[in-house]
Amino acid sequence: LHNTIQELKGNIRVFCRVRPLLGPELVHTDGVISHINFPDPDGKVLELDKLTEMSMNESAFNQTRRGLSKYEFSFDRVFTPESTQAEVFEEISQLVQSALDGYNVCIFAYGQTGSGKTHTMEGGLEGGETKGMIPRAVTQIFQTARELEDRGWEYEFNTSFVEIYNETLGDLLNSSKDKSAKLEIRLGGKDNNVTVTNLTSVPVTSQDQINKLLKQASENRAVAATKCNERSSRSHSVFMLRLTGTNSITGENCKGTLNLVDLAGSERLKDSGSEGKRLKETQAINKSLSHLGNVIMALGNKENHIPYRDSKLTFLLQNSLGGNSKTLMFVNVSPKEENFSETLNSLRFATKVNQC
Ligand code: ADP
Ligand code: MG
Repeated sequence: LHNTIQELKGNIRVFCRVRPLLGPELVHTDGVISHINFPDPDGKVLELDKLTEMSMNESAFNQTRRGLSKYEFSFDRVFTPESTQAEVFEEISQLVQSALDGYNVCIFAYGQTGSGKTHTMEGGLEGGETKGMIPRAVTQIFQTARELEDRGWEYEFNTSFVEIYNETLGDLLNSSKDKSAKLEIRLGGKDNNVTVTNLTSVPVTSQDQINKLLKQASENRAVAATKCNERSSRSHSVFMLRLTGTNSITGENCKGTLNLVDLAGSERLKDSGSEGKRLKETQAINKSLSHLGNVIMALGNKENHIPYRDSKLTFLLQNSLGGNSKTLMFVNVSPKEENFSETLNSLRFATKVNQC
């Protein structure tokens, strides 16, 4: 497997995933998503019917009017609502694997709240088919590392889990009462590596251990969320797995990182009426997603200055965006007609990213 990893086209790939209609959403629709089509057999195109203003607000939900024309979007892959977690993982497994070859891999989930980001990244934490990309990626990495032992490779794994809320870092693996230790991003060492002061980094050897950590992180996130209702949709969460490999036969070394990022909801937040702290928060969230876009575009355009430092998210991921890295973005899409304009926004953002 080593060295036979197929090189990825360009620096960044974009996969689109449309979730199915669920529960009460099925009532008016019989589960049929009538404004989104998947016209090509290769699964790379998504067509969105143009809807008139009428259909774009919830109260007029049943009065949908369609124009004749369509928006068409092409991505490296388009997953339909029927796509399973296993099918989606299949398409990222090579990318995940390249972390063992010393690449820094970044996988993002972008989309409005409720579009399926957390389902895609974490999925059901109790295992089974609903398992998301994080547990599947870890399983595969551990398995491949075991296979590589025959060729002299020995790997160490360390994991951290960070939440970025309102431009402040939180440690999702710190369960101790004392959370006062400040997390700060620093650049240092001869490789100009990013480190985070006081961040918990847990050495891991088994899938079970990782599963426990994921549960713990998810609980810590939930605790924080009860203090502020919208926190989980307004924060980014970054799962990091650092891999250090040494080969006892050849003397080679390699270091790679796998970052799996569940981004804050991309919906445009109404700041009408919000003041002070709330307004600042709204602006911080909107900004950090556009900063991520700016960094990706600056990398794509091979600009001299890449504005990593403009947001905590891009600063934290500085080593994993550009350079010796591979990036993939999921754009998650809600199938609800009332989400039409947010869907259009997400697909447009993803198209810009795809052109990098
Ligand atoms: P987000 O993290 O973007 O806010 P979620 O991942 O929480 O969205 O998804 C919203 C709801 O839809 C959840 O109940 C989730 O379990 C469900 N869901 C999302 N994607 C799928 C899918 N592909 N298949 C089945 N259920 C899904
Ligand atoms: Mg979520």
